[in-house]
Amino acid sequence: MSIPSIIVERLSKTFGQHAVLRDIDFEIHPGEMVALIGPSGSGKSTLLRHLIGLTRSDRHGGRVRLQGREVQVGGRLARATRPERCRTGYIFQQFNLVGRLSVLTNVLVGRLGSMPRGRALLGRFSEEERAMARRALARVGIEALADQRANTLSGGQMQRVAIARVLMQDANVILADEPIASLDPRSAQEVMQILARINEEDGRTVVITLHQVEVARRFCRRAIALKDGRLYFDGPIEALTDARLTALYENAGLDEL
Ligand code: ADP
Ligand code: MG
Repeated sequence: MSIPSIIVERLSKTFGQHAVLRDIDFEIHPGEMVALIGPSGSGKSTLLRHLIGLTRSDRHGGRVRLQGREVQVGGRLARATRPERCRTGYIFQQFNLVGRLSVLTNVLVGRLGSMPRGRALLGRFSEEERAMARRALARVGIEALADQRANTLSGGQMQRVAIARVLMQDANVILADEPIASLDPRSAQEVMQILARINEEDGRTVVITLHQVEVARRFCRRAIALKDGRLYFDGPIEALTDARLTALYENAGLDEL
């Protein structure tokens, strides 16, 4: 059996008095594409941030393992995870590109984590890396935009650049936090199709927080749902019945359904 991509054990996080994650347990295996859903404020982003050690759990707040390596245990971050963290791509709702740099350079930034430190600081990229970046752009369908400044692109195009940057990291695991929440419906659909293709063709694990359950149903087989920081559901998405969904989103704003 292959090593799980992600193992989360009894993960708990409190901000002040507010228990944001409570005893979360799950495993995600290589090649899965999992939707992380739940009302706004249920802890989805906080959970995703814990997976790569951007946030530390409570002192006795459980553990996270990523691709067979400890990321954190009991509120302590493991030092040894850096390469694994580099091989885990993170995609943000707001793209996080450097607007004044070219699209190609933004994609090359994905390479920095795997370069020796001196070369990374100089930001010197080889011809091979540039060719690799152009291939990544071709894969997300925007090779023609390589030399434009990133801040001239549409939201959908910017998110494609962010995905190309993750491809440059050679990431086995891709974590995406509301990657389509700022996009118009058509761009949202295109970005989901690209992520689904990368998952299918490369076997990369994808975990994606989503606002719209309909989108999750269309693209993901498995859903993990949080409610008030607790694991409310984990299973095949078709087992999320209307009754369960109604209960998941009860007390939440109507616009979230
Ligand atoms: P979601 O992504 O599901 O909307 P979040 O993970 O962003 O939820 O937030 C879950 C809860 O944790 C919210 O109540 C939010 O206000 C709180 N929270 C998140 N980050 C912090 C922080 N750094 N300090 C205090 N509270 C936080
Ligand atoms: Mg969020």
